Amino acid sequence: MSAPNNLTARIRYVLVRTSHPGNIGSAARAIRTMGFTRLELVSPARFPDAEANALAAGADDVLGNAGIHDGLVESLTGSRLVLGLSARRRGVNLPEISPREAATQALAAAARGEDVALVFGNERTGLENDELARCHAMVRIPSVDDFSSLNLAQAVQVMAYELRVAMLGDVPTFEPVQDEPPADAAQMEQFYTHLLQTLDDIDFHKGRAPTTVMLRLRKIYQRIQMDERELRLLHGILADTQRMARLAGIKGVDDCDAGNSADQS
Ligand code: SAH
Repeated sequence: MSAPNNLTARIRYVLVRTSHPGNIGSAARAIRTMGFTRLELVSPARFPDAEANALAAGADDVLGNAGIHDGLVESLTGSRLVLGLSARRRGVNLPEISPREAATQALAAAARGEDVALVFGNERTGLENDELARCHAMVRIPSVDDFSSLNLAQAVQVMAYELRVAMLGDVPTFEPVQDEPPADAAQMEQFYTHLLQTLDDIDFHKGRAPTTVMLRLRKIYQRIQMDERELRLLHGILADTQRMARLAGIKGVDDCDAGNSADQS
């Protein structure tokens, strides 16, 4: 029995900064056995590579069609649900879900016509916090605490297997398509850039580095999965905020008490 192709085509596996080409080949084989074909590689250390082809064991079509990207954001283009696989709970406070729950969510999203990305980290360092910050949830394979890290391709296999099982079961009755699709990764990046710029314009950072506060703001907005209309509303508010800041001449005015200075610690 085979799963519907239109669903599998909506689900991409993203391998970030993979060190060993053999793992890329094994991951290609892992997804191919479960009916998937979309592999995206972000800054692989070595690719293409004979070792990748050897371990793909015939899944050369998956390797041949793999996208190669400089950054995670580019690899996520068009994805509306982004799930990051991580063995460790990190500083980023994302909701943590099981592979089974992830499969259910991914399938429901694909059934609504949305693209889904499953993101896997580097063999040694896993996913960095700023990479997890691009995800809507963290998927943790429930391994034991004192030896929690699976081989990369085996983690890919577990996730692909769960998706396959979910697809062979009841394909969810498709919820009516929302009026507005959820914002995709690129639209969210544009929003964060606008937000950062606006915070700068109202002198919110007050000389401090914006990194921490931006990660915290990402966490809030990732949690609620905004749709495109909601995003347009927020862009509108930011644009007006910038306009008012210009009128008030806030930027560059030293020691002008711009009101509430939120605690960024
Ligand atoms: N020391 C790294 C391990 C990286 S293993 C870390 O702690 O994150 C390479 C990748 O395989 C991880 O980034 C993750 O995407 C996946 N992986 C390995 N074990 C996993 C687990 N128990 N749950 C979810 N993903 C896992």
